[in-house]
Amino acid sequence: MPILSAQGLKKYYGEEPNIVRALDGVDLEVEAGEFVTVVGASGSGKSTLLHMLGGLDKPTEGKVTVDGHELDKMSDEELTIFRRRNVGFVFQSFNLVPILSVYENIVLPIELDGNRPDKAFIDEIIDLLGLKEKRNSLPNMLSGGQQQRVAIARALATKPSILLADEPTGNLDTKTSQDVLGVLKMTSAKFHQTIVMITHNEHIAQLSDRIVRIEDGKIVGEGRGINEK
Ligand code: ADP
Ligand code: ADP
Repeated sequence: MPILSAQGLKKYYGEEPNIVRALDGVDLEVEAGEFVTVVGASGSGKSTLLHMLGGLDKPTEGKVTVDGHELDKMSDEELTIFRRRNVGFVFQSFNLVPILSVYENIVLPIELDGNRPDKAFIDEIIDLLGLKEKRNSLPNMLSGGQQQRVAIARALATKPSILLADEPTGNLDTKTSQDVLGVLKMTSAKFHQTIVMITHNEHIAQLSDRIVRIEDGKIVGEGRGINEK
């Protein structure tokens, strides 16, 4: 059983004759623990797809199921709770709270949800992501790559069913991007964390388990890095 499944997913914006078919019939299944990248040109529908998978927006047609949750059957309130409990988001911008330390940023979503952080698990993540020395630092004392690692740690801290990353390396240089990819790959293996990541960077995509290629709102190919055309 895949942990994530999208069936016949369509998302149209606007009305005829100016309708935009951002997603035009996407079927996608992701197994638990898999690290999948979605690649495609700007405007091909990558962000729209990620928003549908994470319950940030509703499809025009089609179904998304995440870890047994059928998103189309959920109210807006249920979707909010679903996102908080089941989805970890990482974006191009790190979105860290500038007046909170690294540790405080990482546990913030857990505390906002009214829970107590599992300190041992948080320490394990901080360690694994190489943030131990920075634990009490403010975000502005960190490099871009370190800030993105904090954002990843924050996303992992809630033990989400799926981690969704939208161009997480978009603001980072090549070397730092590869580091961040290494971190995602390692957490995917270590915690059996399912990850779906958007990138337009082919080299970065090669580092994932599976590449899904999207064009004009449709999946046009799948493969494993260099075996692809
Ligand atoms: P990508 O992430 O691959 O760059 P997007 O999913 O952002 O692609 O966009 C796919 C298409 O849908 C584009 O043509 C884009 O202009 C359009 N689009 C995205 N969001 C909206 C929106 N809120 N309203 C209208 N059109 C949108
Ligand atoms: P940028 O690529 O310009 O830095 P982001 O990657 O941060 O932008 O955001 C991409 C999209 O995700 C935007 O449409 C934004 O509104 C949305 N978004 C960003 N952060 C969140 C969040 N924490 N929760 C829900 N949606 C978000």
